[in-house]
Amino acid sequence: MISLEEAVALIEHEASYLGAISLPVAKAVGYALAAPIVARVDSPAFDNSSVDGYGIQMKDLPRAMSAGLKLRGTIHAGEVTRKKLRSQETFKIMTGAFVPRSVEAIVMREQTEDEAGLVQILRSVVLGQNIRKRGSEFTKGETLLQRGTRVSPAVLGLLAGQGIQTIRVARKPTIGILITGDELKPIGADPRKAQINDSNSPMLRAMCNSLGIQDVKIIVVGDHPAKIQSAIRKLLEREIVIAVGGVSVGDRDLVKDQLELAGVRRIFWGIDMKPGKPNYFGVVGKSLGKRKSGKHLVFGLPGNPVSAVISFKKLVEPAIKKMQRIEVKQMKLSATLQGSIKRDRSRVEYVRGVVSAEDGLLIARPRANQGSGMLGGLAAANALIRIEPGDHAAQSGTMVEVEFLRLP
Ligand code: AMP
Ligand code: MG
Repeated sequence: MISLEEAVALIEHEASYLGAISLPVAKAVGYALAAPIVARVDSPAFDNSSVDGYGIQMKDLPRAMSAGLKLRGTIHAGEVTRKKLRSQETFKIMTGAFVPRSVEAIVMREQTEDEAGLVQILRSVVLGQNIRKRGSEFTKGETLLQRGTRVSPAVLGLLAGQGIQTIRVARKPTIGILITGDELKPIGADPRKAQINDSNSPMLRAMCNSLGIQDVKIIVVGDHPAKIQSAIRKLLEREIVIAVGGVSVGDRDLVKDQLELAGVRRIFWGIDMKPGKPNYFGVVGKSLGKRKSGKHLVFGLPGNPVSAVISFKKLVEPAIKKMQRIEVKQMKLSATLQGSIKRDRSRVEYVRGVVSAEDGLLIARPRANQGSGMLGGLAAANALIRIEPGDHAAQSGTMVEVEFLRLP
């Protein structure tokens, strides 16, 4: 048995970068940048006004605050002017409009009075006020975003502002999921006595989708060696294969043997983690199957639905990130535990709970029903509470590490 940290290190060691693809910017949300983004143009690209107001020269300030300045013209956003301010003149200038060299400061419209083309200013301004200078945010050639940054709507906006239409992003892995169990029935088919509906297929597909991976092939088979073998051979074409169920020590837990029969090399089986002890991980080398590149990773997750979700998050997600060179780790926070929790002697435990902010502090409340088959608790939880192994219970009021599963 190895620790969770050792397991993740072994997985990350085997997971390698999948290379880059080009995508139109509008399709790239959720992908990771394959290369840094470098500014093509200064931002702003030209001096422009940050307010609707009046542009003046500093030497005219006393006059502007007494008799007023003569209106020379109006500059709207999108327009350029060749006119130059002369002594005791002002331009009306709109937000985002080009600011000619001769304008040294802009007074907000709310702080002026414009009467028949004579503009008086009511409050003094300083040199450069309300002018967004060319290059004041960044200049051409500057690195704007690092490799591995995930494309968000804001990134999209930034790229659009730079006139960038296509970008290089990391390719995401293709995923195959093998669901096994004689007792499983798909949704829609009425389970008879001793049968259950298959929760893991829709749940794990949705987890892949939420990571931006749409290319997910799922095969569901009973606990039958030949059927499992043939499904594995089909799925091994995929860069990540996730077998769910059948990896423990039951008589019909046939998946490990069938994986290895198909050429999978075992890296580990068994993690000091609760839930998730029977987790299996292996790789298939280049010579097998019709794979495009590198090693394919093979996970064997326990079939209990809560175990499957937590194992996916803890083990599969780091691999998916590494394959895209995403370096940001899951954010871990400190919270005060409310209610005591029995500790496991040797295994780290991820307890499903609700974390809320009270007076600015995080409080972690474990949910009732922590069984690894009890999806109700996970569905109502918003966080995982990490409980270190030990002999005595984790006491109410002590600090624990938490990580959010989803935001409110
Ligand atoms: P296994 O890992 O195959 O020993 O399964 C452990 C437990 O999880 C058993 O109670 C199974 O019935 C249950 N289980 C396995 N696969 C699924 C699934 N796809 N949906 C719901 N429960 C499952
Ligand atoms: Mg089973």
